[in-house]
Amino acid sequence: MASTAAMALSLAMAATSTAFAATAPYTFIEGQVPADRQPDGNSIVLEGPQEMLVIDTGRHPEHTDKIIAVAKARNKPITAIINTHWHLDHATGNARIRAAYPGAKLYTSTAVEGALKGFLIRNVDQARARLDDPAVPEVGKTDTRLYLNAINDPVNLIPDQPVNGTVALKLGERELTLHLAKRAATEGDVWVHDPASKTVFAGDLVVAPLPFFDTGCADGWRKALAEIDQLDFQTLIPGHGLPMEHAVFSSYRQAFDAFTACAEGNAPTASCVAVWMQKGAPFVAMHPDPKYTQAALAYYVDQVIRAPAKRAEFCGK
Ligand SMILES: [Zn+2]
Repeated sequence: MASTAAMALSLAMAATSTAFAATAPYTFIEGQVPADRQPDGNSIVLEGPQEMLVIDTGRHPEHTDKIIAVAKARNKPITAIINTHWHLDHATGNARIRAAYPGAKLYTSTAVEGALKGFLIRNVDQARARLDDPAVPEVGKTDTRLYLNAINDPVNLIPDQPVNGTVALKLGERELTLHLAKRAATEGDVWVHDPASKTVFAGDLVVAPLPFFDTGCADGWRKALAEIDQLDFQTLIPGHGLPMEHAVFSSYRQAFDAFTACAEGNAPTASCVAVWMQKGAPFVAMHPDPKYTQAALAYYVDQVIRAPAKRAEFCGK
């Protein structure tokens, strides 16, 4: 998908959803999901009177440089980064942003501290071996180097402004609200409500074509989606995929609740996969290959949601 077309579309949506604002209240930078390398999460750049604020920084330098270009074009420094969660497709770019803007503060959950002792370092030996493996293509090695650099630089992943609950963040006249969802897509997910533009920035609590359960806990995740659904907003920006209207988000939530209820019961895996394929059809349609979504759903039912060790790790029970 052409990122400029997607960006233009979403900017137009943002502008029309805010009757009182002459210009788009934020810049949406769509994360790419190429077939041959690791994805980038979506990023958002918000403008204050003298400063810029960014939500999620991507993985690849090409993505992060689009964020820096927005700040350079406005001639205002990036003073704050919000990471919705510690997954490296959303946080690797922190170091590159801070290299350009050393004063940038980092707001996120402290869940990354546990991930740096567990999930994130589990594959280090494998990753080092990949760098010496002639069968691994150069794009794969580039991704591996980005991963190793990120986990070896924890100061750019661990927050200096930890989000342990609800936090108000001023941006000129605007006041953003940072919310913490515990044990949802990760152990601590930060999502952001911008009442002025009636927008929610949801991170990977909302992802097309299916929720990524690699570090997820269904129970906390359902609670977070319910909390978001109660708020007054018009547009929701997911962690991957294009912005959606509130009603579309509500249908995502219903599909999520039905899929996870099935996965937590005794029904055959295939019938739970069918629940998402049917109720989540608008999101499945956002990916070119429905077989990819079916395979991922089956994996998450059998290997995460129904796996006692994963429930213990991600749900704490
Ligand atoms: Zn992501």
